[in-house]
Amino acid sequence: MSAASQTSVNRRAFVQGAAAIAAGVASANWAGQAGLVLAQAPAPLVELPKLPYAYDALEPHIDAKTMMIHHTKHHQAYIDRFAGVLKDHPDLAAKKPEDLLKNLAALPDAVRAIVQNHGGGHVNHTLFWNTMGPGKGGEPKGKLAEAIKSKFTSFANLKEAITTAAMTRFGSGWAWLALGKDGLEVLSTANQDTPLSLGKTPLVGIDVWEHAYYLNYQNRRADYVKAWWNVVDWDAVAKNFQAAS
Ligand code: MN
Repeated sequence: MSAASQTSVNRRAFVQGAAAIAAGVASANWAGQAGLVLAQAPAPLVELPKLPYAYDALEPHIDAKTMMIHHTKHHQAYIDRFAGVLKDHPDLAAKKPEDLLKNLAALPDAVRAIVQNHGGGHVNHTLFWNTMGPGKGGEPKGKLAEAIKSKFTSFANLKEAITTAAMTRFGSGWAWLALGKDGLEVLSTANQDTPLSLGKTPLVGIDVWEHAYYLNYQNRRADYVKAWWNVVDWDAVAKNFQAAS
């Protein structure tokens, strides 16, 4: 990273930090005045999960501004719409979002599309954040590596299959490595559709909506996909594989 961009990151981190402090002070004041009312407020039905790293941690592969907007605006918006449905359907709110997505047909007609699009958005992005990290990339190890070799012959072939799935997804969607009844497979889905709704467990996925890369890569989806390989956390993917096996 150049000195100039390092300075820019530091400044951005400082501005974000200052904003967080200001928000904290404001909310503390508000809490003091609100007193018991705040204590009685119910916990949110769905909460934005914290990122396991800083917004600038994936630079230069994924820039801090994209990460911050993607997490605090896009993911939050999916959560808000999803929670809006759950608020009126306590029976659905009692279930795990993944379980709702596994059986969309069982949902009331009035809420099915919102669960599919916005519940899917929440679950997909949670997986996305948790399978990336700074200083990651490389290749999987252990049982996951063996399963990849047995199904795709080599890790290079798997990489090519996921890259092709990501590049050929027309419009918005995702490319996945998932575990289905026939073992590992690569697939892509449109919009916020998840492999869970197809009876498969997503292990890792790349978001190819333009909001995931446009600020830094504009129309160059291929460059973004290439960069993403440098941040894939294969230990986290291996844990997902183990849990699903
Ligand atoms: Mn996204």
